[in-house]
Amino acid sequence: MSAADARRDELSGNLAAVRRRIADACGQAGRDPGEITLVVVTKFFPASDVRLLAELDVRHLGENRHQEAEPKAAACADLTDLVWHFIGGLQSNKAAAVARYADVVESVDRVKLVRPLARGAQERGHPLDVLLQVSLDPPDAGNRNGVDPREVAGLAEAVLATDELRLRGVMAVAPLGQPPVPAFERLAQIAASVRALAPGADRISAGMSSDLEEAVKCGATHVRIGSAILGNRPPIK
Ligand SMILES: *Cc1c(COP(=O)(O)O)cnc(C)c1O
Repeated sequence: MSAADARRDELSGNLAAVRRRIADACGQAGRDPGEITLVVVTKFFPASDVRLLAELDVRHLGENRHQEAEPKAAACADLTDLVWHFIGGLQSNKAAAVARYADVVESVDRVKLVRPLARGAQERGHPLDVLLQVSLDPPDAGNRNGVDPREVAGLAEAVLATDELRLRGVMAVAPLGQPPVPAFERLAQIAASVRALAPGADRISAGMSSDLEEAVKCGATHVRIGSAILGNRPPIK
């Protein structure tokens, strides 16, 4: 068997296992698996894996670093069905560039990103879907991941004030070292408050390899799965 065939078998088996986990979690929660979009996070893995995943009916890919995502998306530009989700921390001086290839930016966590993202979307010539990344960390956590829940409404209004950005919902990462369910329940409440401002903002992106069941239980519409499908990432240097 060639290396490519072996990798395809590995990805295919892992994908089937993750799809089964999603289906089982939906069964437990009384939800329809058709409500859940699987975003496969390919960070640290090559464009050749993206191609194998596309052959295995994956359409949604997630990337978290601009310098890696931009060439990977370009290398796969012939796969016109793919939907690229940018899920990483975003510097405002890179935001316009990200908006030129990402179809969804899930990590909008401050007003300062709104203008450059809108400019990038305008240059590309079509509106950009965005999610607000909300911090589920305790208020005293030093290194918060996402916008403070008290500032979500203001950030939502800033996005809604543009023509180029479409507010589609919220995204979050469960806080480290804490049970995910209470955090994902808070996220569901925040999502409802955003939906009250913008009825089309109906997505909740939550759940990774280790906590997708809890996320589905709490209403996630999108799960972002990396290592359970691609394997372990090399350690960050
Ligand atoms: C890497 C990453 C994921 C996927 O994590 P796994 O634990 O490998 O499934 C999901 N969301 C974000 C924001 C990430 O950076």
